[in-house]
Amino acid sequence: MSGIDDLPPLREVIEAHGLRAKKSLGQNFLLDLNLTARIARVGGDLTGAQVLEVGPGPGGLTRGLLAEGAAQVLAVEKDARCLPALADIAAAYPGRLEVVNADALALDVSAHLTPPWRVCANLPYNVGTELLVRWLTPAAWPPPWESLTLMFQKEVAERIVAGPGTKAYGRLAILAQWRCDARIALTLPPEAFSPPPKVHSAVVHLTALPAPRFAAQADVLERVVARGFNQRRKMLRAALKGLAPDMGDRLRAAGIAPTDRAEQVSLEAWCALAREVARG
Ligand code: SAM
Repeated sequence: MSGIDDLPPLREVIEAHGLRAKKSLGQNFLLDLNLTARIARVGGDLTGAQVLEVGPGPGGLTRGLLAEGAAQVLAVEKDARCLPALADIAAAYPGRLEVVNADALALDVSAHLTPPWRVCANLPYNVGTELLVRWLTPAAWPPPWESLTLMFQKEVAERIVAGPGTKAYGRLAILAQWRCDARIALTLPPEAFSPPPKVHSAVVHLTALPAPRFAAQADVLERVVARGFNQRRKMLRAALKGLAPDMGDRLRAAGIAPTDRAEQVSLEAWCALAREVARG
């Protein structure tokens, strides 16, 4: 028994099912169930919540989510070796855990959960940013999820919450902060994982705003920001050249000096520039 439930400690589970961590699947497992329960609580009370978990592995965070009261957890795991361990958890929480053996990048979550759902995951680092960008750029806003509680490498977490004038500020910060509140809830040293990764990690919590912070067309904002930060050392009049006619005038109309660099521009000014570019 492990403290938060009647299931065996994770070290025993990993040993019993031969779950030797695979680097190719980004497997760094959390073994401390008090820590996984704490991560599950980052988004607030889970009572009655529907939760998507990507990459449950041996199920440490899954057990945290269920012990903290989630009504329904959809756990999507690519590695079939983890399925027996996850089946034991499903049996301990009847009717509350659905396990799908699939690639999270190919899964249609709406076929399994009813919005609004939450996402809570210790993400595989190789697909973490791609999943985040997908969640941040749905066809319509508000999205089907209400919050994302996600483990990243600390350096990626810092890029999500960064403000202007910092090296970490870029496309990810704009995408995240335009339509979400984003904060780093927890930082973790390598030793919190088995095997320990090379870098520190951090849990980021994002809450979807009902509407964007500033008006802008999503596809235009993404295009302008991607171009601007692609050549972040260049002045914007050069970095954005060719994106639309009269870029100098459009930059000035958005309150941006054509000699500014991307990392000096506030979120509000990027949105103003996207509106100027969308004028055609
Ligand atoms: N949640 C577990 C924990 O905290 O101990 C495991 C986290 S481990 C960092 C990432 C997990 O994601 C692994 O179990 C791995 O097999 C799984 N995974 C990797 N790529 C995946 C993908 N594309 N879709 C679903 N799961 C994936």
